[in-house]
Amino acid sequence: MIKRYTIRRRIWITIWFTSVFSAVLFVLLTFYLYDRFYLQTQEDLLLNRGEKLINIYESEGLSGAFYDGMTYTNELTESKVFFIDFLKKNPAGLRFLTNADIEQLRNGETVVSSRTHPIEGTDILMTGFPIIENNRLVGTLILYLELGQISEPFRPLRLMIFFMIGLIVLNLVIFGRQIIDTIIRPLIDMKRASTVYAQGDFAYRIPIQSDDEIGELAETLNKMAESLGEVDEQRKEFLANVSHELRTPLSYIRGYTEMMQDKALDEKTRDQYYQIIERETERLQRLVNDLLDLAQLERDSYPMTKQPLVFSQVLEDVVYRMEPIAKAKGVSIITDFDPSQIVLGDNDRLEQVIGNLLDNALRYTPASKHIYLSTKTDGEQTICSIRDEGEGIPPEHLERLTKRFYRVDKSRTRKDGGTGLGLAITKHIIDRHDGTISFESVLGQGTTVLITLPLLPDEDDGFS
Ligand code: ATP
Ligand code: MG
Repeated sequence: MIKRYTIRRRIWITIWFTSVFSAVLFVLLTFYLYDRFYLQTQEDLLLNRGEKLINIYESEGLSGAFYDGMTYTNELTESKVFFIDFLKKNPAGLRFLTNADIEQLRNGETVVSSRTHPIEGTDILMTGFPIIENNRLVGTLILYLELGQISEPFRPLRLMIFFMIGLIVLNLVIFGRQIIDTIIRPLIDMKRASTVYAQGDFAYRIPIQSDDEIGELAETLNKMAESLGEVDEQRKEFLANVSHELRTPLSYIRGYTEMMQDKALDEKTRDQYYQIIERETERLQRLVNDLLDLAQLERDSYPMTKQPLVFSQVLEDVVYRMEPIAKAKGVSIITDFDPSQIVLGDNDRLEQVIGNLLDNALRYTPASKHIYLSTKTDGEQTICSIRDEGEGIPPEHLERLTKRFYRVDKSRTRKDGGTGLGLAITKHIIDRHDGTISFESVLGQGTTVLITLPLLPDEDDGFS
């Protein structure tokens, strides 16, 4: 089980840890500075003063000048000085020195050390200067400083540091919450937003408060919500369309079967009703088949067996099937194919594409007009054009023709039996063949549908 710390708590812990850590570091630093620099300067000072007195001693001996110098040091500086005269019996102040010190002094070395005052018991910094005559230690000049006095100047500094630490802590308490809030608020917003999205409401947008990583995340989430919203909208629209499309033929079928139960119905009317029921059943069947096709195409699970095909042959097969319908309508189909074109594709699906397009052209072209079906080679692709002399499509609709259930004139095309799924299926199949589809139309003059498909190079076509 992962221990649960809120981000807020984690930030608090980090802030507190950092401040306590820096406070401790600060205090340690003052100790270090005290030791390293202050103690060192005081030591230098003692050595300096001692050396000056020794110089006086060396030029004038135990004279008045030497004693004056000592008096001056004792009275006017915080360091204390006295002289141990080894020539005397039981010289005073000997207690300041250890045997090791005396040994060192005998060798002519100056003694420097921190120790306890032998009488007063306080901490002192002490220096001892040897006075040697004829290779004999005759005296020692001792200078010392109370360490209590030395640390004196550090007291206000420490006080200041503690005061500063207090100030930092106070700041943390007052502003810490605000700082954390500004970091956390967007996260809380995002959490709230995702809960709202999970409930299916994609209209909510997270307010973007910064242009940093968190701001970017919020923006990404907003974009995600937008596309989820669109998908959701499409889903609802699709469901509504499907229900609507199913309801109409079903209510026809139901209505006419009810009416046919009337025993007094004459033969002719009964036949008429039969025809209507048959038409609506066919329509239902086509709709369901189209929907199944579409569902499979959208999931990429549509069975497709691609092989090299002579494209003009595919076209001719479709034209051959459609010709009778065109004739019955009084529309002539004029073809012009490049017979050398080979495409890699699924024969039935490509026939379905051309069939859908020809069906549209026929449906929206009045009698005595023409439909032109042609192919031409453009580099590595074929451009197939299906041009009709029908009513045309207003330009604002051209973009959306391949959307599911999209019909330019709903009431009119319903009567023609169209469901608005033909071009959606067509577009999917062409996509699966790495091709493109586009529409050009002039109202009142006709529509041209252009399809491009990649051609197989000659050596790969298996026919040469
Ligand atoms: P379905 O093909 O599913 O039976 P449909 O023909 O209505 O129904 P689509 O083939 O997808 O659906 O066409 C969409 C719409 O585009 C049609 O309803 C029609 O309004 C318009 N359209 C398509 N082709 C033409 C055309 N050649 N001339 C005029 N309008 C067209
Ligand atoms: Mg159609």
